[in-house]
Amino acid sequence: MRVDCNCSSWVRRMKNAAKEKNLAAKSVKEAAGIASGVSETELRELAHKLSERVKELNCLYGISRLVEERKSSVDEILQRVVDLIPAAWQYPEVTCARIKLKNSRFKTANFRETNWKQAEIIMVNGKRFGTIEVYYLTEKPESDEGPFLKEERNLIHVIAERLGHTIEHKLAEDSLQSLYQEEKKLRERLQAEMQGRIDFTRNLIHELKTPLTSLVATSQLLFEEEKNKKLVKLAQYVSEGANNLNNRIDELHDVVKGEIGTLELDLKPLNLGELLVSLVEETRALAHQHGISINLKMDGSLPEVYADPVRVRQIVLNLLNNAFKYATEGGRVIIRVTPKSSFVTVEVCDRGPGIAEHVQQHLFEPGYQVAQPAKHSGGLGIGLALCKLLTELHGGKIWVKSQPGKGSSFFFTLPLLGER
Ligand code: ADP
Repeated sequence: MRVDCNCSSWVRRMKNAAKEKNLAAKSVKEAAGIASGVSETELRELAHKLSERVKELNCLYGISRLVEERKSSVDEILQRVVDLIPAAWQYPEVTCARIKLKNSRFKTANFRETNWKQAEIIMVNGKRFGTIEVYYLTEKPESDEGPFLKEERNLIHVIAERLGHTIEHKLAEDSLQSLYQEEKKLRERLQAEMQGRIDFTRNLIHELKTPLTSLVATSQLLFEEEKNKKLVKLAQYVSEGANNLNNRIDELHDVVKGEIGTLELDLKPLNLGELLVSLVEETRALAHQHGISINLKMDGSLPEVYADPVRVRQIVLNLLNNAFKYATEGGRVIIRVTPKSSFVTVEVCDRGPGIAEHVQQHLFEPGYQVAQPAKHSGGLGIGLALCKLLTELHGGKIWVKSQPGKGSSFFFTLPLLGER
């Protein structure tokens, strides 16, 4: 009766285990026959078979746990699988195992090749990766496959299959890891290079500005104090040149700061109309020097924008300077302002030579210049790049419409107050 009791609880346990592991299915069916009354010898045989299946399950469970251990390398997994195998075979004390790969071997401590061998191929990504071999060290009675059971054939097959999947997974993980490491190294090198360039540009700007600052001040003084008309004219040229150079260096500095994300705006409610009126007054003399008239067109009073006045001045001045430079003599430059529901559009329009369509998309790239006749040369190709940077920092957009021979219109938008 005691035996019956133990057996039926075994059967129950095995029934549960069999749901997860198909290998045990057959034994469970056999064990289920107990209920219909079988002899004690048959029961012992069944109990033996069940304990064999439990060993197999333990082996598979051990392999599953190995697979879940994320830190183990493929080599570690293979060695531990080899060590798990003997306990699952019918005669563990005389069982040894080996996993053979192209360039490496993983063996149990007692490994020796004999005549009693069972083997299975490990396939990885559809290709032969290696073999698992199980040997009996001494002769054992013949069974389904030499001395081996057909359940052991199934088991070695399942182990090989599991290992194949695990290795596929690990290899993919490893290559992802090495890709990540490579990308990290590359990123660090790039950052170091960028930092080097930033430091170099900062030093360069400093070196250029130091002598220039005294040149600007001295030439300005000379221009104001000198009585000799000829010398005044010369001093004026020097002063203008020095100021231009100073502005270019500041622009270059701003572009660099913009590119590394350290350019900041001082945003506040801004009366754009007032700012444009004063800019037009300021630049009228310069426009006249170029033989050009300047007009501001806006409908009534404009709603306030949310912007940095210094930077908006910089954008408009850049566009105006270009327009003066390129507008045909005797022509007109127009600033047109159009408010929309959430932003305002400013247009600076000239009737100059215009810009070919295929170069328009490059105009806002730093350093881009269109080959020009001598009278228009002299820039660094950073004015429009800076305008784009500043407009976008405000949350606006900048673009150009131009037709060769008919002139150009540069547009930019700024958000209205309350829209940011
Ligand atoms: P730069 O500082 O050299 O003037 P910009 O970035 O301001 O550089 O302008 C880039 C190029 O765009 C110039 O080389 C010029 O060819 C072209 N460009 C800019 N504004 C105009 C314009 N109003 N009409 C024709 N070409 C223009």
